[in-house]
Amino acid sequence: SVASQSVVVTDSILDRLRAPRPAASEKRQFGHLAILAGSRSMPGALAMSVKAALQSGVGLVTVFAPESIVSQLACQLPEAMWRTWPETPEGGLALEGLWQVKAMAGKASALLLGPGMGSEAETLALMGDVGKVWDAPAVLDADALRPEVVRAFRESGNTDIVVSPHDGEFMRLSGCSSSLDTEVSAYAKAQGVVVVKKGPNTRILDGSTLCVNSSGNAVLARGGSGDILAGLIAGLLAQGACPTLECACRAVYWHGKAADLLAVDRGQVAVRTTDLLGYLGRALRTKG
Ligand code: AMP
Ligand code: MG
Repeated sequence: SVASQSVVVTDSILDRLRAPRPAASEKRQFGHLAILAGSRSMPGALAMSVKAALQSGVGLVTVFAPESIVSQLACQLPEAMWRTWPETPEGGLALEGLWQVKAMAGKASALLLGPGMGSEAETLALMGDVGKVWDAPAVLDADALRPEVVRAFRESGNTDIVVSPHDGEFMRLSGCSSSLDTEVSAYAKAQGVVVVKKGPNTRILDGSTLCVNSSGNAVLARGGSGDILAGLIAGLLAQGACPTLECACRAVYWHGKAADLLAVDRGQVAVRTTDLLGYLGRALRTKG
């Protein structure tokens, strides 16, 4: 089935982020994001997601990370609250830490799951168990993009799930042999999730609406840019400022616009993925 409505995402989607905050603002009004990600062998993906989340405007961020990498990351990113999670012998997140997510449900306003978690059987089982107990909005990215994980989140009746696959991840997730708009739209509708299908002109779909992003460029074709996007989507979802599909569109446009400004300043080659973070503020200050 093809989406009934098609929209191009343009700069005005950022306007809500440009409005000044009320003087009496309090951190809890801006949500609390929980992040469960990383492994001993992939701390960087986690670090990039956390960095982006910390620049999304969210009030509080709690990160659950493998015990062997927490102390080092906590020094680099002191704005987040860090919680150590027990590890498998291979350095993935172990099942026995699940109680920490249960304790967090009801406190946090959104969850990011997946970046850098790896695909060990125990960690995949943990992701499914997290899905069964999590009922707030959630972003599933990278290693969490598995049919059984999405099913676990949806079976508990959660309707605010964003999945953010690139083409290959979409095909693994859906079993489709292509990632055409019709296939992605049918998947979004059947699963009841918002899909951010990443690539040039990222598509954001919920089964009835197809949004096509108009920002971004090939400077994003480097490791970690998806982890930064996942942190931004989750950070906006946690703030609860708009419906899930719109949050996803806003994050995708913002991320792409930061990449456009970065490329103008520095070109597309001699940059680092984390340089994008320095352009998120400028993307809001520059209209059009
Ligand atoms: P990932 O594959 O998870 O690292 O995500 C890559 C991110 O970079 C996504 O947000 C893509 O939309 C973006 N991206 C990758 N290649 C391009 C490209 N050639 N043009 C525009 N955006 C891209
Ligand atoms: Mg990725």
